Amino acid sequence: MTDQYAVIGNPVEHSLSPGIHAQFARATGQDIAYGRILAPRDGFRAAVAAFRAAAGKGLNVTLPFKHEAWRLAAVRSGFALGAGAVNTLAFEGERIVGHNTDGVGLVRDLTHNLRIVVRGKRVLLMGAGGASYGVMEPLLREQPATMVVANRTLEKAIELVGHFEQLQSRAQQGIAARAYAGLSGSEFDIVINATSAGLEGAMPALPEGVFAAGALAYDMVYARRTPFLEFARARGARVADGIGMLVEQAAESFFLWRGVRPETEPVIRLLRQN
Ligand code: NAP
Repeated sequence: MTDQYAVIGNPVEHSLSPGIHAQFARATGQDIAYGRILAPRDGFRAAVAAFRAAAGKGLNVTLPFKHEAWRLAAVRSGFALGAGAVNTLAFEGERIVGHNTDGVGLVRDLTHNLRIVVRGKRVLLMGAGGASYGVMEPLLREQPATMVVANRTLEKAIELVGHFEQLQSRAQQGIAARAYAGLSGSEFDIVINATSAGLEGAMPALPEGVFAAGALAYDMVYARRTPFLEFARARGARVADGIGMLVEQAAESFFLWRGVRPETEPVIRLLRQN
């Protein structure tokens, strides 16, 4: 019988995950079906239970359910444990196992696809939502010089930095929370936009002068020209959108479910053509 997987979220119709997993399955010869589940905002657990009852094997979890998925998982693997957010659920018999592959996906896109060395670099992470929680630990493992987290609602950035305080020493000069206005006079080598501002055609209130010479500007939002990437390009930064991260996090989920690692480069190339 074909094993069933899906992405669950609200909204979910825009998700590219079904197409990505269909290509992975074709390329690796895995017999899976991968669909979309639109769950009511107050109906995540019921939708997961219905999917499991129909012999579903695993789910990718997207907005706004990543924290709820973390709470639902009886077992949380490596990065999911510290992140407090889960984007991949695996149903292993009676057990629900939660993983977070967002950070692995981002770091793999940065280091493997874009050939960026994070170690020793000054990193600015914008946003303090689920995506930022997911990428903090894998980014800190790369040992940047500094990691500054900026957010429109400063309290949330402070809370996030507090959450990862025990990992503080992984960044050579520590981690810190700032308001956007507080970034004036600081330069960064890698500026990551983990806010959803680009979806509304907006960008965080970045001051001038944050991009060091040769800086990379990375927007997790994909498949559109975001104001942040336009802003960065106009200031001489190298730019990248979140397509690579999307495909890499999907590949990691596929690997966790199927034990087979699909090639990502052909899928990234195809998505960029569309
Ligand atoms: P979230 O939990 O809803 O958090 C949204 C964040 O964006 C918050 O920090 C919020 O700030 C900030 N924000 C929203 N509008 C803003 C604006 N106009 N100006 C400044 N800040 C703004 O969302 P999330 O789960 O972290 O996801 C964030 C984005 O990353 C989404 O667009 C998602 O699609 C993308 N993402 C991409 C991938 C990928 O594979 N490429 C993976 C994960 C996520 P406040 O706290 O002040 O409200």
